[in-house]
Amino acid sequence: MITTNSAKIIDGKLVSAETRKRIAEECKEFKEKTGITPGLAVILVGDDNASQIYVRNKHRACEEVGFISKSFTLPSDTDEKTLISLIEELNNDKEIHGILLQLPLPRQLDEKKILLSISPEKDVDAFHPINVGKIMIGDYTFAPCTPSGVMTLLKYYNIDIAGKECVVVGRSNIVGKPQALLLLAENGTVTIAHSKTKNLKEVCLRADILVVAVGKAKIVTADMIKPGAVVIDVGMNRDVFGKLCGDVDFENAVRVASFITPVPGGVGPMTITTLMDNTLKAAKQYYLKNQNKEI
Ligand code: NDP
Repeated sequence: MITTNSAKIIDGKLVSAETRKRIAEECKEFKEKTGITPGLAVILVGDDNASQIYVRNKHRACEEVGFISKSFTLPSDTDEKTLISLIEELNNDKEIHGILLQLPLPRQLDEKKILLSISPEKDVDAFHPINVGKIMIGDYTFAPCTPSGVMTLLKYYNIDIAGKECVVVGRSNIVGKPQALLLLAENGTVTIAHSKTKNLKEVCLRADILVVAVGKAKIVTADMIKPGAVVIDVGMNRDVFGKLCGDVDFENAVRVASFITPVPGGVGPMTITTLMDNTLKAAKQYYLKNQNKEI
């Protein structure tokens, strides 16, 4: 564990590496027991540079933990019918247990409609309404990768959530809302703040655990942090020099918080690792469902 004069730095790279090692071991055991190799399909529509890098990283992560990975790159003018028929093919592909559709999609494609076509059992991003509903009732196999990765970090550092004041800044379907539900499932007392929240500083100051997922550099400053709070920075922004930075003013916040995630090297590394974990869970679920049938 890296320490500074005040806050302990939550080392996402370390936790990610240890988690991947565990996944690789579980994958090996699962293969030996069942003859099944977990498989992930990643679909990219268009030629967005950042998305291409994410897809490559996902492919590498699959190799590292021993999964099969298949990438499908479709042209940016792909129509709905073509994309949905590829997804349906993958829904029926016995080698594929997880399907990830790289977002955002080009404008002509209706994201909600397309996400609905992914089989909930293979929806390793957990964006399908069935999986969202399962998280809501606290009965789920997998949760969205980024908030789930945050939970893994909190657990790794033995940070208690039960009874704690948790403030999540941001209410997107991908990060903020599922993050709030996951903290609630661990008995946190959860507040969600957003762009219409009045007096954000006052709300943040209540937090024992503060998760910030806004996408605005330094929106959370040190004077908004309760001394001793745990600060999780999900944000990924570029500063004026083009350097990657989070939503929290790290240099000053580190003197107030008890634990803090850096950017880069905090939450970021956990997202793809959690995708691997979700894919393994999906493969195990597939096996349990089909073990009495010929697979
Ligand atoms: P969205 O843009 O979908 O959501 C941003 C949220 O921030 C919204 O709920 C918005 O409120 C809220 N917000 C905007 N301005 C303010 C403000 N002034 N005060 C309080 N709340 C505000 O972003 P995402 O949730 O997808 O992502 C958030 C950040 O996390 C981004 O930087 C993104 O790059 C990063 N990210 C990082 C990942 C990782 O792996 N590390 C993965 C996913 C995202 P409202 O709803 O009212 O508009």
